[in-house]
Amino acid sequence: MIRFEQVGKRYPNGHVGLHELSFHARRGEFLFVTGHSGAGKSTLLRLLLALERPTSGRLLLAGQDIGAIRNAEIPYLRRQIGVVFQNHQLLFDRSVFDNVALPLRILGLPRGEIARRVGEALQRVSLKDLGEALPADLSSGQQQRVGIARAVVHEPALLLADEPTGNLDPRLAAEIMGVFEDINRLGTTVLIASHDLALIARMRHRLLTLQRGRLIGDGEAA
Ligand code: ADP
Ligand code: ADP
Repeated sequence: MIRFEQVGKRYPNGHVGLHELSFHARRGEFLFVTGHSGAGKSTLLRLLLALERPTSGRLLLAGQDIGAIRNAEIPYLRRQIGVVFQNHQLLFDRSVFDNVALPLRILGLPRGEIARRVGEALQRVSLKDLGEALPADLSSGQQQRVGIARAVVHEPALLLADEPTGNLDPRLAAEIMGVFEDINRLGTTVLIASHDLALIARMRHRLLTLQRGRLIGDGEAA
């Protein structure tokens, strides 16, 4: 699903985001990426989304060389990917249903199809009766679940998350990680950037550790 081959990213100001990073993740894997601030986690996610281009090496997503992708192809690439952010970036003046429906409306799907898929996505995050609620009426854990439903509603092959539990207490954080595991169990590849090592250690998934742009560890979290 994901193949980094000696991928380097040097920013125009000379900062090195990643240094010859190589790893491979199979379809259906669940993996964490950790490292201190500045280690390269966000750079790795932005390269996968083609928000940034590698400055060396080769980066393949589902066999496609996304380092060399044409700009016109980027929207198609992004359809294969869902993204969950730390502060979920929900629209607070729209209902939960409308928030989750947004990516499908952008794709121009028919209304009936949108309703069906949004219902399924809300069910996957255990919020099926809250479609009419406004995000402000929900707890922070529920809001993050809405963020996850919106990220998976177009059924992406790859789900990326950037510090998705950063604002949650430990109990809610563990619950949200359980939602990611449920989604992974149905076949979606999941890659989560996090520096919550205590939580990661309890989950026994593959863990990539970055330090100043270099991969210094790859194995089951211990
Ligand atoms: P995090 O550790 O959560 O990734 P950062 O503070 O490192 O947060 O980065 C936040 C944003 O600022 C990112 O989008 C990143 O691209 C950008 N950024 C980080 N370092 C620099 C820099 N030296 N110059 C310009 N932008 C930067
Ligand atoms: P993390 O997400 O692990 O905090 P980043 O990928 O944000 O790490 O940053 C890795 C390195 O790249 C840092 O040295 C950071 O300052 C630099 N960097 C990140 N984004 C930018 C940017 N947009 N412009 C310049 N340097 C950046």
